[in-house]
Amino acid sequence: MKIIPVLIKSVSEVIEQNAEEVTLLDQVIGDGDHVTNLQRGLEALIQQADEYTELEWAEVYQKIGMTLLSTMGGASGSLFGTLFLSMSKATVGQTDLTSKQFAEIFTQGVNAVKKRGKADAGEKTMLDVLIPVADCLSEEAESEPSVLLEKICQVANTGMESTRDMIATKGRASYMGEKSRGHIDAGARTSQLMICAIAKELAKH
Ligand code: ADP
Ligand code: MG
Repeated sequence: MKIIPVLIKSVSEVIEQNAEEVTLLDQVIGDGDHVTNLQRGLEALIQQADEYTELEWAEVYQKIGMTLLSTMGGASGSLFGTLFLSMSKATVGQTDLTSKQFAEIFTQGVNAVKKRGKADAGEKTMLDVLIPVADCLSEEAESEPSVLLEKICQVANTGMESTRDMIATKGRASYMGEKSRGHIDAGARTSQLMICAIAKELAKH
């Protein structure tokens, strides 16, 4: 898939630009390593970027998932890895993905993350971005691509912002209990940044 190196580049850039902010977020209610975990994974993806151009979607997701699992570490490494490996399983045999097919694939990926993290919406995690984005993809699959992509980014923003008022009940932030309220979750922020960067890039094509 020729688009993959371009997407990896935009995602890496947006994470780089917001790295300090994400570190601060993970320092207040976590251990501060989220962005460096993610950057380690993204660096590995950049190294492989050209290898993706010849692969089909199922292989692309598989390779991304394996790479993130083996390089990232942290709770987020296994969760983002799970997302892509499960998307790969859901994609087998499909080449030109429609919005509706992608919505189903992404939903399966998000369901696997829920299972893996034993978490759901409202627990102040990346799922507060991933779940509404999966729902939006399903509900808006028939919309114009440009409209769909804009809505996805809006929903990701709202989901990320919604974590501010939540009390964390999963992951390290849950140790903070009530004190976790008032801060955006780091994984929700990076998920939103990456999703919006991808949507913006896809809107150009
Ligand atoms: P660690 O928490 O091991 O230091 P990271 O800092 O890389 O790992 O990632 C933390 C992020 O992972 C959190 O901000 C949150 O979004 C997400 N997260 C942690 N635990 C879970 C879980 N059980 N389910 C879903 N997401 C989770
Ligand atoms: Mg951390």
